Amino acid sequence: MLLEKIDNLLKEVNQLSAKNTEEVEQFRLRFLSRKGEIAALMSEFRNVAANQKKEVGIRINELKRRTQEKINALKEQLEVKDAQSNDIDLTRTAYPIELGTRHPLTLVKNEIIDIFARMGFTLFQGPEIDDDKHVFTMLNFAADHPARDMQDTFFIDRSNSVDVTKNVLLRSHTSNDEAHYMSTHKPPIRVLCPGRVYRNEAISARAHCFFHQVEGLYIDKGVSFTDLKQVLLTFAREMFGVNTKIRLRPSYFPFTEPSAEMDISCNICGGKGCGFCKHTGWVEILGCGMVDPHDLEACGIDPLIYTGYAFGMGVERITNLKYRVSDLRLFSENDTRFLREFEGVQ
Ligand SMILES: [Zn+2]
Repeated sequence: MLLEKIDNLLKEVNQLSAKNTEEVEQFRLRFLSRKGEIAALMSEFRNVAANQKKEVGIRINELKRRTQEKINALKEQLEVKDAQSNDIDLTRTAYPIELGTRHPLTLVKNEIIDIFARMGFTLFQGPEIDDDKHVFTMLNFAADHPARDMQDTFFIDRSNSVDVTKNVLLRSHTSNDEAHYMSTHKPPIRVLCPGRVYRNEAISARAHCFFHQVEGLYIDKGVSFTDLKQVLLTFAREMFGVNTKIRLRPSYFPFTEPSAEMDISCNICGGKGCGFCKHTGWVEILGCGMVDPHDLEACGIDPLIYTGYAFGMGVERITNLKYRVSDLRLFSENDTRFLREFEGVQ
């Protein structure tokens, strides 16, 4: 009878054992597939007398559930056994693990840090998300300065119109590091601040919404513009070669006075004039100047006792000059064909 048949199958299921996953699969097909034992019972179920249907139905379901449990248990046993096995195939070929390279911007940033470290500059890194106070106010930016406009700077919270210094933003320059450092350290200060900065720019070959800067700051008694010029000349020669010349052109920055932009003699034509330097023989590489007394005062440093200089450069700009990368977007596209070009750089 049907009940007897179910009982026998149940006994058989309880005794099942398997040496490998193929055997488990065989059991599954035999019992649970569309043409398997349980499916056959279901079709016989139709002919069961009405008064027995309830009991037979319950028993078939029990058999099905038990079979499924047993097969799962067998699979699990085999997996555990597999994991414990010591059969390591030593002849198998290794996964192709490719060695990466340092990113060109990291290479150049490290080189800049290295040069200034030899001149006694230590490293300081501040926050990329900062308040208006440290990014603009302490650095002598006027309340209506265009950098405070949303067209130029990414604001995270600009809701405080009463006290703009509390608004939160993605820093638009690494000068905020200088504000942090100056307000928490006493002179002498000789620090280098590398980091990422953000500006609300349309992305093109020449502009990006994020880029990297390295700023330097030196504050002590009797620091003069001459010191600044000598440090920058040393940097330019170390970075671009001993024959590199520099020139300083007067400029304007809110946080330095006087301010200047520095050019180096074109490292492609050696100063004779070429397409790259627009036939001037010079290319611009950084901005610099004497720290404005207002900044010192805002950070709790007495401007009557101390003076200092600051400079800042774009890492992308220096990398472009050194390696002739003409499109800024290449730095952030993760194209390994481009990145591999720098494999040989130490
Ligand atoms: Zn040139």
